[in-house]
Parts: sequence; structure tokens; C-alpha cells
Amino acid sequence: MIDLHSHTDESDGTCSPAQLIGEAARTGIHILGMTDHDTLRGFDKALPVARANGVELICGIELSTKLHGQSVHLLGYFLNDGDHGITEFRDWVLDMQASRRDRNVRLVARLQELGFNITLEEAEARGRGLTGRPHFAQLMVEKGYVSTLQQAFDEYLDESAKGYVYRREPQFAEGVERIRKAGGIASLAHPVRVRADIETLLPELCDVGMNAMEAYHSDHSPKDTSLYLALAERHGLLVTGGSDFHGAAKPSVRLGTGYGGNLQIPQDLVDRLKEAAPK
Ligand SMILES: [Zn+2]
Ligand SMILES: [Zn+2]
Repeated sequence: MIDLHSHTDESDGTCSPAQLIGEAARTGIHILGMTDHDTLRGFDKALPVARANGVELICGIELSTKLHGQSVHLLGYFLNDGDHGITEFRDWVLDMQASRRDRNVRLVARLQELGFNITLEEAEARGRGLTGRPHFAQLMVEKGYVSTLQQAFDEYLDESAKGYVYRREPQFAEGVERIRKAGGIASLAHPVRVRADIETLLPELCDVGMNAMEAYHSDHSPKDTSLYLALAERHGLLVTGGSDFHGAAKPSVRLGTGYGGNLQIPQDLVDRLKEAAPK
């Protein structure tokens, strides 16, 4: 079995990188793509464990990018092979992490200004390597400042709310360019979540160099999957797929098989990706 979309606790999953490899080995996954949000730290930690357990680990990432004002997730694969500017890509990822941390420092100051007793340490204890606005929202609920995460966003954290502070996020096109320059494959994550007509949008995404689409995903119905497979074919895109496993954070999504077995990723999918990835 294969699964090309999974998260460790280096981003918002709950399994450590080693635990995720253990889970893959137990489940019978022989090729695993690790795609933490905006970091390669989980992959780096997991690689020796994967080798020891006979799991083939594919280096991936899931970038949060901006596209026409909405947040769109972009997957990158094969980011650790050869020497196609991997160092430059890794530096860029570290740079984004630094800008996220800088935003968090400013966000804490802003929230304190608004009268909330919230510290960076508290937020970072919840978010680990990837502390973001959801962790601040969580704290605001825990401390009784708001009653729901939604309210925290609506009143304080959203772009138009009074606690918002700016963070530089890459545009979708820049994400694609960075991944491709590093020799990777750039795949549109869970297209079902993109709030736009995907058929209309695709030509633009292909124009900036996106070369794959995640047709198989736990959130996709069989009808969604057929549509995305047809669109991929029409636009000459490669196909990727995975469960988007997050461990106990989304307990009903199983590694390799999605919700109650709704996910079946064909075995030859990875062969095609490998053929296409620059050597
Ligand atoms: Zn995503
Ligand atoms: Zn994901």
C-alpha cells in the first residue's frame, strides 16, 4: 500500500516522525510520503527510522500559499533527491519559518495590547515547530476570552479583525517555482477544498508550472476522484494521492485507507511520479 500525504507532530499531526513510520510499517504501507506543513524537519528525523523499517520514505512538504486571496495548499515531492537546488529550497523554508515566528512575536504584542494575558511560550507549547493562529485561538478559548475558535478568528485573528498582524506568505506561483527549481513535483493538494471552479482555474495553475494534482484524498468522493483524474489527463498533469493522516488530531482518517477505507491509491502512481521526477 502507498500513502503520499501524511503529517507528523513537526506540523499539526500527533505522531512523532518515528511513530508515523511505525504506524506505516504496521499498516503495510511500503511507500510513504511525509508532507508536513512548511517544514522538512519530520522527514529528516524519520529517514533513518524508515530505512531501518523497510519503508520507502518520499520527501514531501505541504506549503500554505495565497491564490487570489484564498489560502491554497500545495504539495511538493521528491525534494531530497539529487542536488537540484535542494539547499536553496531548504533555506527558503527556514526563512518562512523565521517570518512566521516574527509574526507570532508581533501577534503576542498586539493581543497583549488588546488586554489578553497570552504569552509566546504558551502558544509555542501548543504549536511546537509550527505555531500559528489556531494555537492562539485555542489559548483564547482555554482562558475564556472567547467561547469558540471561530469567534477568536472572527473578532481578533482574521485578516480583517482587530488583532491581525501581517505575515508574508508565498503566492501559489512562487511555491510552484520553488518546488520545481528544487527538482520536485508540485501538486495541488485536495482540490475539493479550493473555493473556485477548478476547471476554470486549472489552466492558470498549469501556466505557472504546477505539474500534478492530488486526485486521491480522504475528502474526495468517488465522483470527485474521477473528475480530478479526467482533468489531470486533459491537462497532462501527474497524479498524487494520500490520506492526509494527522493521527489523533483527525482520528477517523486512517493511514493508507482514509475514512473507513474510502481511499484506494493505485500502486503504479508512484512509478509514474518517479519516471517524471528529474534525476
Ligand atoms: Zn492541506
Ligand atoms: Zn495535509
